[in-house]
Amino acid sequence: MRSRSLPILDFVRIAGKENVLTSPEERCCYSYDASKLKALPDCVVLPGTAEEVAALVKLANRDHFSVFPRGAGSGMVGASIPVGGGLVISLNRLNRILEVDSDNMTAVVEPGVVTGDFQKRVLQHGLFYPPDPASLPFSTLGGNVAMCAGGPRAVKYGVTRDYVLGLEVVLPTGNLIRTGTRTMKGVVGYDLTRLLVGSEGTLGIFTKIILRLLPAPEGVRTLVAIFPRIDDAARAVCTIIRNRIIPSTLELLDQATLQAVENYLHMGLPIKCEALLLIEVDGRDKLLDDDVGRIETICREAEASETEIAATPSDRERLWQARRAISPALGQIRPGKINEDVTVPRTQIPALIRAIRSLAEKYRLVIVCFGHAGDGNIHTNIMLDRKDRDELSRAEQAVHELFRTVLDLGGTLSGEHGIGITKSPFLQWEVGAEGFEAMWKIKHALDPLNILNPGKMFVSNRAFFRG
Ligand SMILES: Cc1cc2nc3c(=O)[nH]c(=O)nc-3n(C[C@H](O)[C@H](O)[C@H](O)COP(=O)(O)OP(=O)(O)OC[C@H]3O[C@@H](n4cnc5c(N)ncnc54)[C@H](O)[C@@H]3O)c2cc1C
Repeated sequence: MRSRSLPILDFVRIAGKENVLTSPEERCCYSYDASKLKALPDCVVLPGTAEEVAALVKLANRDHFSVFPRGAGSGMVGASIPVGGGLVISLNRLNRILEVDSDNMTAVVEPGVVTGDFQKRVLQHGLFYPPDPASLPFSTLGGNVAMCAGGPRAVKYGVTRDYVLGLEVVLPTGNLIRTGTRTMKGVVGYDLTRLLVGSEGTLGIFTKIILRLLPAPEGVRTLVAIFPRIDDAARAVCTIIRNRIIPSTLELLDQATLQAVENYLHMGLPIKCEALLLIEVDGRDKLLDDDVGRIETICREAEASETEIAATPSDRERLWQARRAISPALGQIRPGKINEDVTVPRTQIPALIRAIRSLAEKYRLVIVCFGHAGDGNIHTNIMLDRKDRDELSRAEQAVHELFRTVLDLGGTLSGEHGIGITKSPFLQWEVGAEGFEAMWKIKHALDPLNILNPGKMFVSNRAFFRG
């Protein structure tokens, strides 16, 4: 939809003058996300209530302009970018934790609450909110629900969708509805909550979220294992889980990642080895030493050349140091990267890594892999300089081939980052023409005027990596 001139006076009447941003400098702050894509909105409004959100969306239906919900703008795929201009609705003022119910182990929050703040708050009640995207110090729960964010703990605890019991939502028509329940059970009508989680701001704007919580684990143990051969590391991952131990974290760093981190930190990492596994178990304290010991034995039997169990919290911190340093370390290899969060069944990790290595060779690219080996989610980072058009073109070809390979291996194009703009040309590859059409029909039924977050998911045949 093309944006027309916006009813700014109505926005001021609804949200107050101080919450309506119109200057180019202010609007610029809401024009991009972590994908590096950019589009300037015509106006930004920061509503303070669900009713204000609903009133703004009703105006969009009256005057036919586009509306783009936005949390912290940390998304990786351009899902919050105001393509074609229009109104950005920032949910940052809706940032209250409304309730933590220890007995029922639930919480009710507004969407602008920062995920890490929420985790700390429920921990004060002895409770645990497991989803842990690396962006948790700044990303919002609304953004996490819209993208169905995951993190290292997904291997044991699942992802955001597994914790959302219900929602209060402003639909694209401006109607305010409630979905789901506060109870663990509830089978009344269609499961709209499940449909809305992961809908990337295209089907509704969340104004309240009901979350399920768990008891906080008593303790945690951490182990690092170094493997001369990556196939052995992958074998160890499968054997651990086959032995009915589900680690809370099972992270893999490949050789290129180890080399990058070593160049950055000089901490004596084993750069000749093909893989490092960082493994954590959590739960009842008295069971953990046994679990971590069994994992160490499995890694040794799978030909790990070295293992180390953290004896103290500062040892644990040291073992995590390499994992935490990956992002800044990669920045030193090349100025830019294409980060794909492809996911395969964990038994296919060796095949995926082999395919990635041959893509690196074929297209003369530096490709660095790390990620959540426990759930087969391997972050594949093609390091490049976006100004080098030849390198960018080779990288785009490599991504196409990577996606074909991942689907052939029974995997998915995105484990956690979503579709947004950057992966929209590939959505049909995974869901098929009929699946795509079914999704579009749902979108059209709820949003006949295509008001909410247009230009995402359903776009095809464009080169989006060029930023
Ligand atoms: C350094 C870094 C590390 C990251 N690590 C991870 C990771 O480990 N795992 C992971 O899954 N992701 C990760 N991400 C990606 C990103 O943080 C997540 O996608 C996150 O969920 C986005 O939250 P946000 O508040 O920034 O949302 P935004 O980026 O602002 O928006 C994302 C989408 O949500 C929609 N949206 C936002 N709020 C609402 C709302 N209230 N109602 C409806 N729709 C809404 C927007 O329209 C948009 O489509 C990382 C990003 C960075 C920069």
